[in-house]
Amino acid sequence: MRDMLFINGQWTAPAARGRFEVCDPATGEVFAQAPLGTAADIDQAVAAARRAFDKGPWPRLSGHERARYLRAIADRILADKDRLGLIEVRDNGKPLPEAVWDMEDAAGCFAFYAGLTEEMDGDQGEIIPLQDARFQSKVVREPIGVAGAIIPWNYPLLMAAWKVAPALAAGCTMVLKPSELTPLTALELAAICEEVGLPEGVLNVVPGFGSDAGQRLAQHPDVDKLAFTGSVPTGSRIMQMAAADIKNISLELGGKSPFVVFADSDIEKAVEWIMFGIFWNQGQVCSATSRVLVEESLYPRLMERLVAEAAKIRIGNGMEDGVKLGPLISETQHAKILGMIEKGVAAGATVVHGGRRPAGLDAGYFLEPTILTDMDDDNLVWREEIFGPVVCVRPFKDEAEAIRLANDSPFGLAAAVMSDDLDRCERIARAFRAGIVWINCSQPTFTEAPWGGYKKSGIGRELGRWGLANYLETKQITTFNHRERWGWYIT
Ligand code: NAD
Repeated sequence: MRDMLFINGQWTAPAARGRFEVCDPATGEVFAQAPLGTAADIDQAVAAARRAFDKGPWPRLSGHERARYLRAIADRILADKDRLGLIEVRDNGKPLPEAVWDMEDAAGCFAFYAGLTEEMDGDQGEIIPLQDARFQSKVVREPIGVAGAIIPWNYPLLMAAWKVAPALAAGCTMVLKPSELTPLTALELAAICEEVGLPEGVLNVVPGFGSDAGQRLAQHPDVDKLAFTGSVPTGSRIMQMAAADIKNISLELGGKSPFVVFADSDIEKAVEWIMFGIFWNQGQVCSATSRVLVEESLYPRLMERLVAEAAKIRIGNGMEDGVKLGPLISETQHAKILGMIEKGVAAGATVVHGGRRPAGLDAGYFLEPTILTDMDDDNLVWREEIFGPVVCVRPFKDEAEAIRLANDSPFGLAAAVMSDDLDRCERIARAFRAGIVWINCSQPTFTEAPWGGYKKSGIGRELGRWGLANYLETKQITTFNHRERWGWYIT
């Protein structure tokens, strides 16, 4: 395991010489020590990123040259996906096939942005038609500068890729602070950047705690852009910190996404996508469709099938073959979610499946796939993000009621609808107040398409060309083309 920070292209001992423990969620045991970055290390890393941006080659390379590095990073991630996947499983707990899939996705993200940065070479700027023909305005795009990235633990390397790849493609330099719960694959990414010869200071990786390293990165005056993914309360704090310097920010926050299932749906497809929407990655997915609304006439049959299939899910250590549900990330999350279920039940909800630690899995942070029903609009399990394998299911009468219930949330990240009637699906898709909508599926995510939410789910969009735009400034260059003098003071 790597025990140094990656700053200015060098493996660097933390200023305070500290380490922190990394725990395997499947056993609850400490299996690694990570280097503990603090505010002093963030200062070093930002200084390195600043030098690399102001004086280094990176922002001045052509898109084709930057793309060569991004493709080399993608190739190395792909070539090493099994080893990286194993690290991710121990760090995060997810089943190995999911972790390997994440590695492939992360590689795909670097390859995609390699393509976009190449396209930027042909961009000579856009000429804007002006009302006053004596002038000509050209609009060009330039890298914002030094970017800071603060990421969560649910998709450790993938969340890093979503920020590092577009930032580097744009010509920015970056300081990345992974979650204190899952610091390891970010350091592996640093090692890959070293192997491919990424110029010094372009990517700096400093694991550490939010209250110290994270806070310093969010407040650092030399950081031009801050990209954050995490919870709403932290996002709100980040926004306040960034306000001091009017930092450009993008926020990818939480969700409580609805999935509306109409009675004309194929019941087997509905059950499968409902399960994928909430049990994948142990439900620790910002876009998890954790509120399921089922048309009344289908509700009893669907519940029966859902419970039967949930009962078959193999729970266990993500390293074991056939496991489809690993442990939650931490003891704190485990206790928090059990507490939420208890409060939800006290407020009227019924547990129709799960809701407990599975029998025989006494170590680690395991929770049965959980299905709740009978909750009213105000029940906290219906309103608040649980971030675990817990789905709330309710019947609805008609389309109007389904839309009202779906949109009655402070979040607006994602939403899904299932019906054989595609006109209805399109109508509902337009009515959802959410940034991501799935029709007849839930969760598939593509590097090419924009990702982000309405309302409290965040500000801005990642992925696709929107993700690149996050790291670009827009500059207008206006030329006075006329032969005559301007003639205001001197006529
Ligand atoms: P979190 O907000 O606790 O932590 C996220 C990151 O912020 C971590 O790196 C943490 O160290 C850092 N941090 C914490 N306090 C900080 C502070 N005061 N200053 C600066 N940095 C600080 O979130 P989490 O528990 O790691 O992740 C779960 C949350 O993330 C969920 O709400 C989930 O919905 C959300 N999420 C959203 C998306 C999305 O794309 N919208 C993706 C993944 C996760």
